[in-house]
Amino acid sequence: MVSSPQQYRENEQRQEERRPTPAVALAVSPHPDDAEVGAGATLARWARDGCQVVLAVCTNGDKGSEDPQMTSERLAGLRREEQLAAAKVLGIQDVVFLDHPDGGLEDDVQFRGELVRLIRQYRPEVALSTDPDRRYMQHRDHRMSGQVTLDASFPYARDRLSFPEHLAQGLSVHKVREVLFWGADTPNFYVDVSTTYQFKIESLLQHKSQGFGRRPREEMERMMKERLAENGKALRVPLAEAFRRIEIRF
Ligand SMILES: [Zn+2]
Repeated sequence: MVSSPQQYRENEQRQEERRPTPAVALAVSPHPDDAEVGAGATLARWARDGCQVVLAVCTNGDKGSEDPQMTSERLAGLRREEQLAAAKVLGIQDVVFLDHPDGGLEDDVQFRGELVRLIRQYRPEVALSTDPDRRYMQHRDHRMSGQVTLDASFPYARDRLSFPEHLAQGLSVHKVREVLFWGADTPNFYVDVSTTYQFKIESLLQHKSQGFGRRPREEMERMMKERLAENGKALRVPLAEAFRRIEIRF
């Protein structure tokens, strides 16, 4: 039987979903809470299934408050606590704070070197971050995180003459197999999160300074499930998170 392009795409996606859980995954979150919004249920599922999930939080989120009484210093401390609590809910044990100021990420040698170092240290098969190619409104830090995650994964972490100081310090080069971007305009990869979506909700509720938890929990759960159910149609599963997947073949 000849498959229609649509069927072929769906079959391909279903097949991708059946691949084994990665041994190590690195999630690069621009701010505390972004990884939970974009991939929380996927990370919870992988962590549950034995993956070592490493969460790198690029900025301290010290601008994200409308409260006139809040200071950047107090907010950064608060968000760090919230992030640790959220990671615990997802089953993530390795949280690395890069502590850039909120809004201060640059596509520069410092940030690139930090991500290359993490890749060479933890040796993930999969790196995740925000899609840098979203067409419409997007926070600058999100764009920077996505772009630098992709560049650090390929080619910098692979090449021994890039950041050679890492090798002098005992690390070795590493090839990341794929990059998954959350928040994509055109997703092409889905992860079934029907059994772990509740951890995503619970992790988001830890980010109280960002207003999560202001609405009744049932309302938040309903809205989130609606979105995940829409993604789930691609895999014919109840709930899924959606990504743009880039395979690194070299
Ligand atoms: Zn953000």
